[in-house]
Amino acid sequence: MIDGSSRHLLEQRPYPAKLSVVIPIYNEESVVPLLRPEVETFLRHVKCEVEIILVNDGSRDSTLELLVNWAKEDKRVKVLDLSRNFGHQIAATAGLDSATGDAVVLIDADLQDPFDVIHQMIERYTDGYDVVYGQRRTRAGESRFKRLTAWLFYRLMRAIVFKDLPVDTGDFRLVSRNCLDGLKSMRETHRFLRGMVTWVGYPQVAVIYDRNERVAGRSKYPLRKMLSFAWTAATSFSTLPLKFNLLAGLLVGAFAIEEAVRALIAHAMGRTVSGWTSLIVLISVIGSSLLIGLAIIGEYVGKIYEQSKERPLYLVARSFSMDNSGATVKDAPPVISKVHATDAGS
Ligand code: UDP
Ligand code: MG
Repeated sequence: MIDGSSRHLLEQRPYPAKLSVVIPIYNEESVVPLLRPEVETFLRHVKCEVEIILVNDGSRDSTLELLVNWAKEDKRVKVLDLSRNFGHQIAATAGLDSATGDAVVLIDADLQDPFDVIHQMIERYTDGYDVVYGQRRTRAGESRFKRLTAWLFYRLMRAIVFKDLPVDTGDFRLVSRNCLDGLKSMRETHRFLRGMVTWVGYPQVAVIYDRNERVAGRSKYPLRKMLSFAWTAATSFSTLPLKFNLLAGLLVGAFAIEEAVRALIAHAMGRTVSGWTSLIVLISVIGSSLLIGLAIIGEYVGKIYEQSKERPLYLVARSFSMDNSGATVKDAPPVISKVHATDAGS
């Protein structure tokens, strides 16, 4: 588990010289015509260079044509067209990988997350925060079931897997260049971006906002996908499920002892057919030792799993040193360890 209470020295920094906005888009032909005016209004109020990265995640409708036409008319807009549908987390990763801004915002296309909030995020960025995540106060237009499962999901994840995962946050967030470089060094296949951003660390802060209804079209996350996403999240941040075998093994082991005692007593009282006692005890002992053996293998598989993610061993946010005059503290650029190792932090 990661200790979320790290203290950082916050230092004011200038408004980003360049802002990247990454928008993953899948089958949103009814949304794109509404998205464009929103983006344009937003752009009028941003005080720096902006690039808008539209990632077409293998849409099957006319989304790509609409995006390309937009890019032809606006130099700030770039379209990344993925070769097929890879899913939201990978599409977002593709966009983040190609972002060149000092600060990068990830936002959905469906206008559930208001573009206005980005201004507040930039403000917190200038306060010195490296990650500013949107935290939902309300979620308009989402079914009671979806709200309940989301509520449960975050609480469960925090309770058993990842205690510092901020509750009620999606992927809508702003990250600084330093943090993004850390994130980009994590090339694991099964991605749970919001957890990965928490893993990366750096000063993080929330901006509270009200989530809107989807402007058009339908959610691309039906129950089946939501469950599979939750499963990825749970298994990519913890090897705890592998330890269930150990628990089962110990329980069966305890049962074996209880059965052995009972069988021995029955044997002593002459109430058994010969051979029964040893059979029951043997079966329970074998069952228990198999499960415990499996749990031990699970431990190693878990370690291999963590190692195979090849995450950096650590990230240095900043380093301070006195210069020759001895007067000022120099802030050296951050370091990403070249050595890869296990995810000791989660
Ligand atoms: N999306 C994507 N690839 C997918 C599914 C969704 O790029 O395979 C995009 C989608 O177009 C939207 C964002 O990811 O911009 C979030 O999806 P959605 O709004 O359907 O999710 P929800 O808000 O319902 O959780
Ligand atoms: Mg949505």
